Amino acid sequence: MPIIPDYDLQAHNTLAIAATAKYFVEVHDNDELAAALSFANKGKLPLLILGGGSNLVLADDFPGLAIQIKHSGIDVIEEDEEHVYLQVGAGENWHDLVCHCLNFHYWGLENLSLIPGNVGAAPIQNIGAYGVELKDVFLELQAMEVNSRVLVNFEKQACQFAYRDSVFKGRLRDRYVITQVTLKLKKSPEVQINYPALMQALSDRNASDITPQVVAKTVCEIRRSKLPDPAEIPNAGSFFKNPIVPDETFVNLQSRFPGIVGYPAGENKTKLAAGWLIDQAGLKGYTQGSVAVHTQQALVLTHTGEGDGRALIALADHIKSQVFDRYQVDLEMEPRIYP
Ligand code: FAD
Ligand code: NAP
Repeated sequence: MPIIPDYDLQAHNTLAIAATAKYFVEVHDNDELAAALSFANKGKLPLLILGGGSNLVLADDFPGLAIQIKHSGIDVIEEDEEHVYLQVGAGENWHDLVCHCLNFHYWGLENLSLIPGNVGAAPIQNIGAYGVELKDVFLELQAMEVNSRVLVNFEKQACQFAYRDSVFKGRLRDRYVITQVTLKLKKSPEVQINYPALMQALSDRNASDITPQVVAKTVCEIRRSKLPDPAEIPNAGSFFKNPIVPDETFVNLQSRFPGIVGYPAGENKTKLAAGWLIDQAGLKGYTQGSVAVHTQQALVLTHTGEGDGRALIALADHIKSQVFDRYQVDLEMEPRIYP
């Protein structure tokens, strides 16, 4: 398990930002992870836990140890009449897992097709798309406590999953490394097609033809038509969360901006479409040197591969202040900024 000094992380983040980690190591199992954590502890080094690097921004060089989680394995650990329980290593690629489940007829992940990144990061923000969230299929996870190197299990309730959020982004941020995730998947197909874009794409199909495979294929097609592929245009997906505001604020905004997009988000709350706010502020396609607001999807910021993280943060700050000036709504960044 070589610990490599002065390691370039450009290939380890989907924004393709060149930044150096003081040290870098790949860990394939819990013994290697414990040894890496011990090395960081002794050297008082900050930690950067890496999955696919699709939800982080390297604003500068990282002055600590970057640990690439490579735990592998997809195993059925239990079955009953209705469900199959699948234990998955944190280093498995998320979309490969979705494809594996489609092949084996384990249902429930279809709407989450083509989300970049690895399984270990999925609980961090309770990944979600097209009306389904990780929490809908999640049973439990195993994680290693960073200081004690003890393994702990977290059941669903302990993860405090919420909209693109979990306890690992809040109270327990940086305290645990997720090593495996257990999912509870269905043996009988039950498609979820209420999300408007999905329903529209499937509107000319007979209900009986809409299999989980069809849903997964349709989600992939919609995503490919709207989102830039990070391999071609470096990006980190949605750069801002959809802000949740009191209904009263939404009504006020509606009187000033009649086309504003909002969805009910619990008692007296409305979720605004951040992409609409940015687009209508005239920022779609806006470019500052090596970074830009994507021309098709204003929620996505892109990078040419030749700039740096600071340029991207400057663009994000510009967007935040323009949106605030126009709507008095605060945008919160979704990717984590390092160091
Ligand atoms: P990384 O970027 O490597 O890490 C993200 C954070 O999690 C970091 O803070 C990291 O330290 C931490 N972390 C990673 N692994 C572990 C671990 N094992 N233990 C502890 N902490 C860990 N997200 C959605 O929710 N829905 C979408 O539809 C969606 N679409 C996207 C589309 C594109 C084109 C892109 C680029 C991103 C999209 N995302 C989406 C965001 C991103 O793909 C997800 O958040 C994904 O789960 C991140 O996985 P990752 O392995 O790349 O995480
Ligand atoms: P979209 O379909 O154009 O919709 C725009 C926004 O409106 C989305 O953010 C979505 O919220 C919200 N929305 C639409 N219909 C809704 C409904 N009936 N109820 C509640 N909210 C609704 O979105 P898109 O950008 O193409 O993305 C499609 C899906 O992929 C979304 O679920 C999105 O979250 C996900 N995605 C996420 C990322 C990321 O990096 N986090 C990147 C790309 C796509 P939600 O976001 O809550 O669904």
